[in-house]
Amino acid sequence: MKELDKLYDPSQVEDKTYEFWLDKNYFHAEADSKKEPYTIVIPPPNITGQLHMGHAMDNTLQDILIRTKRMQGYCALWVPGTDHASIATEAKIVAKMKEDGVTKADIGRDGFLERAWDWKKQYGGRIIEQLKKLGSSCDWEREAFTMDDKCSEAVLEVFCKLYEKGLIYRGERIINWCPNCCTSISDAEVEYEEQDGHFWHIRYPYADGSGYIEVATTRPETMLGDTAVAVNPDDERYKDVVGKMLKLPLTDREIPIIADDYVEMDFGTGMVKITPAHDPNDFEVGLRHNLEIIKTLTDDAHMTADCGKYAGMDRYAARKAMLKDLEEGGYLVRTEDYKHNVGTCYRCGTTVEPMVSKQWFVKMEPLAKPAIEAVREQKVKFVPERFDKTYYHWMENIKDWCISRQLWWGHRIPAYYCADCGEVVVSKTAVHTCPKCGGAMRQDEDTLDTWFSSALWPFSTLGWPDENAQDFKYFFPTSTLVTGYDIIFFWVARMIFSSLEHTGEVPFDTVLIHGLVRDAQGRKMSKSLGNGIDPLEVIAEYGADALRFTLVTGSTPGNDTRYSEEKVKSSRNFANKLWNAARFVMMNLRDGMETGLPEELDLSDRWVLSSLNSVIKEVTENIENYDLGLAAQKVYDFIWDVYCDWYIEIAKLRLNSGDEKQADNARRVLVYVLSEALKLLHPFMPFITEEIYRALPGSGESIMVSDWPVYREELHFAQDEEGFTNLVALIKAIRAVRAEMGVHPAKKTRLFIETKHADDFNKGEAYLSKFAFANEITIGAAFEGDAAGNVQVVTDAARAFIPMMELVDKEKELARLNKELAGCEKDIAALSGKLNNPGFVAKAPVAVVEGERVKLAKAEDKKKKVLESIEALS
Ligand SMILES: [Zn+2]
Ligand SMILES: [Zn+2]
Repeated sequence: MKELDKLYDPSQVEDKTYEFWLDKNYFHAEADSKKEPYTIVIPPPNITGQLHMGHAMDNTLQDILIRTKRMQGYCALWVPGTDHASIATEAKIVAKMKEDGVTKADIGRDGFLERAWDWKKQYGGRIIEQLKKLGSSCDWEREAFTMDDKCSEAVLEVFCKLYEKGLIYRGERIINWCPNCCTSISDAEVEYEEQDGHFWHIRYPYADGSGYIEVATTRPETMLGDTAVAVNPDDERYKDVVGKMLKLPLTDREIPIIADDYVEMDFGTGMVKITPAHDPNDFEVGLRHNLEIIKTLTDDAHMTADCGKYAGMDRYAARKAMLKDLEEGGYLVRTEDYKHNVGTCYRCGTTVEPMVSKQWFVKMEPLAKPAIEAVREQKVKFVPERFDKTYYHWMENIKDWCISRQLWWGHRIPAYYCADCGEVVVSKTAVHTCPKCGGAMRQDEDTLDTWFSSALWPFSTLGWPDENAQDFKYFFPTSTLVTGYDIIFFWVARMIFSSLEHTGEVPFDTVLIHGLVRDAQGRKMSKSLGNGIDPLEVIAEYGADALRFTLVTGSTPGNDTRYSEEKVKSSRNFANKLWNAARFVMMNLRDGMETGLPEELDLSDRWVLSSLNSVIKEVTENIENYDLGLAAQKVYDFIWDVYCDWYIEIAKLRLNSGDEKQADNARRVLVYVLSEALKLLHPFMPFITEEIYRALPGSGESIMVSDWPVYREELHFAQDEEGFTNLVALIKAIRAVRAEMGVHPAKKTRLFIETKHADDFNKGEAYLSKFAFANEITIGAAFEGDAAGNVQVVTDAARAFIPMMELVDKEKELARLNKELAGCEKDIAALSGKLNNPGFVAKAPVAVVEGERVKLAKAEDKKKKVLESIEALS
């Protein structure tokens, strides 16, 4: 018989096992018409990325789903890959070039791209190797990259198609400009933070010298771009001044007072300065009134040549200088402190400038509509459901998507311009000669927003735009998307509308949203706090299984979780407990023994098999409902409490009984239950389960490709399961009390069991005498002796009276019971607290809430019994 090593060392097992799986090609999936497909596409990590806890969580959840489905007989495909992450990668490369003393201008576009691809070659695969350490069972043969040929082809196709339909256009619009990254960024990439600022109230005199009006601004440096002041047309105060001219301070320009609905009468003075080049609302007003657009800021946030004496100054220096001049000129009325939300760049944190710019846009309204419908009709379901609100909110308020970026790393916009006649051609293939005038054409210098390609990920990776591609036909639409709540609009929403537009189908049916992994104190892990934990270090010390198990237990969809080393240690202890149990079982097996269940099952066999059966059913349902944390907890409880702590202990009686038939039966049940439990645990802890499984007699080549356990009606023994569970609970409680009182196991006692379930306890007499140290057992509906002479042990289903008061102190026993009472009350308070919290009841899975209700009822019942015991004693 194979023997397991004395100690389980993940570092000796995990890499070797992963190699074995790769050799066997188990991760690879081919379209198979005899099977049903189950597909997940990975949220492609950035090539600049290094595995962090968020990835570890995200990928553990995906791997659990894909491994379960694979075992359930689906043709399970997990498509891996990486994202070129245009802005993040370009920033890294530019930083590296700076060290070498070169700029983008020095080496030009081609030189830059050469460096970028080199960089990708060197570092781009790093995160993929790290994902392998975690045990991810991705189909690596299909590893994709958003800039590979396949994905780039899809990008070109989509751009040209949308352009032809008029859904992509080029125009002057207000965009968010990051002066540090020197590129436009989309609305979704702007992060708002509350900052202390000021409202500067400024006087604009009438050109005819008849007085002045007052406006207020938080960005005085933009006033040089003002081309009007607006009032609401219904504002009685200003009826007469509309059309009058104002003299714009610090300039020699005159600007008109105009009337526009956009102005709120009760905000400030009801007069608003209009700067079409630097504010999205003002831009719209400008379009309506045909106002001139004057840019006051350059791409790196300095004042433009139009700004007179301020030209060339940095935006904040100019602000200071202008305020000083306004004050000296008597234009500055007052300065008011003002807290306001300032848009900052999500990459670098620089304050973003709204500015007018000629960019490419996707027209969103026609695309958003069907995407909203698809979620309303539940064609795509969010888990938990509440995240559909985030989705609707964004989609219903969506503005056109600015997709051009002033970067070189990415998909270059396939638009070509004629320098001679201005003709614009959008084409999948390069255009050199102008179709109109024969002049030379030049391709647009800009690249596309990185999310433009990741929006196509679920189908571009499967062969689209070739709609006859076998993979696309078989694996698409995909099944589940697993991702964090922070990218619902960056990515999830864009995949949904892109997929509907280009394939006519939703990209996936379910979006499983997970929360953030926070540190032990609940803080976000961040570089600046230095509280980030490297998953690879955790894997090196405790094993990938322990990390995975830690991340999934206690997690519920959509909610943040806390990471602590204590939790990892307890997951590692669980792995060790399982290992030791398996080792014990294997040492007690016989060479050439039969496997499979024996014909004759004793009470403990029926109990363990029926419990296993229940766990199989529940865990399968939990996984089906995406309650992965709950599923993990149930497998843990079964293996630890039922199998290791009790069934093995009980089986020892038969193994050592000298009755070979009985011993053999016990061996067969031990192996059967262990093997099934390992399968249930496999998606959560793939490595240790494989190592043990392959050593068990009668097991197949690999647990990865074994069949997922199914509920078997013939192994359902409801009454034995419940009865034996009650018995075990009582034995546990008696043992705990005896241990607490220091009563030696050799000291046998009489035992009276008061219970409504006499049958169950009658059947378990042998176990009671062995494990509860009883020499004479009486079971009845009510205890009629003198309670005072007895120690009383209370469980949900029974109360045991043990005449050993002579061995203990009555006061001590009272104290113990009072402690027990306090424990019950604490449990009751905690459980009622939870159940009275509408947040918990609304957010937790129904099964969890129901479980807590049952616990509460049991705790209340137990409290009643303990109170009775205290009363009897005192
Ligand atoms: Zn930036
Ligand atoms: Zn031309």
